[in-house]
Amino acid sequence: MELVRAKKHLGQHFLNDESIAFEIVNALNEKCTTKNVLEVGPGMGVLTQYLLKNESFQTWAIDIDLESVKWLKEHFPALQERLILGDFLQINFKDYFKSEFSLIGNFPYNISSQIIFRMIDCKEQIPLMVGMFQKEVAERLCGKPRTKDYGIISVITQAFFDVEYLITVPEHVFTPPPKVKSAVVRFIRKEVTLACDEKKFRQVVKTAFNQRRKKLRNGLSSFNISDEILKDYIDRRAEELSVDDFVNLTNLILANQS
Ligand code: SAH
Repeated sequence: MELVRAKKHLGQHFLNDESIAFEIVNALNEKCTTKNVLEVGPGMGVLTQYLLKNESFQTWAIDIDLESVKWLKEHFPALQERLILGDFLQINFKDYFKSEFSLIGNFPYNISSQIIFRMIDCKEQIPLMVGMFQKEVAERLCGKPRTKDYGIISVITQAFFDVEYLITVPEHVFTPPPKVKSAVVRFIRKEVTLACDEKKFRQVVKTAFNQRRKKLRNGLSSFNISDEILKDYIDRRAEELSVDDFVNLTNLILANQS
């Protein structure tokens, strides 16, 4: 059977470096405690082959591309009915997993932030994720306060997960090569739950970063709370606040909003 043709609109760049594939799966193996692992976008199975070697969990895989799913069926009969043809962003996880599962993938870069937000929305079921992103996105996910990489997605991800930047991956190890470098990131869910209302937290973070370079005095005015109450925040900028600062700010706003 021929190889799967790389389709640009599906973000298909196939990893052709076995040692990097092994390293990615190993980053999952080191921390995996779940009985099931779901691979997003297996393509031609470069990660899948190593996942299937680990017998401490069952490997599932979902790809949106029929050609890829047919190819995998032929080459990885061990996947059997755990191979799903579908859109990762649309499936209902509860249809497949009753309890927790881990996620892994060389993700299609056109939907990487949607994958992150899906992981966060479903974090009760997802204690671990290892994924390949474009390097710039990886840097934002791992971004620390007072750097250009720090923004909404950094704060919201790091509120719920410990995030580790593992390796930078060059363009030429993919076929076809993407235009940008890539990087592998690992996410381990935090034990403690967020010390404030989650929905409000997200709203406060988004509002604060609306004008990231300006002082928060204006940005926070939509909450209709006096400068006196917000005095510890109004002369700072969103990019200076840590996750804990945002938690405290959220609680302050909730306690004072009418
Ligand atoms: N893991 C493979 C392929 C990476 S390319 C490798 O490393 O070589 C990204 C893969 O994600 C492709 O196989 C593509 O078909 C798949 N994909 C794209 N959008 C998807 C979606 N919404 N849901 C599931 N898979 C998707």
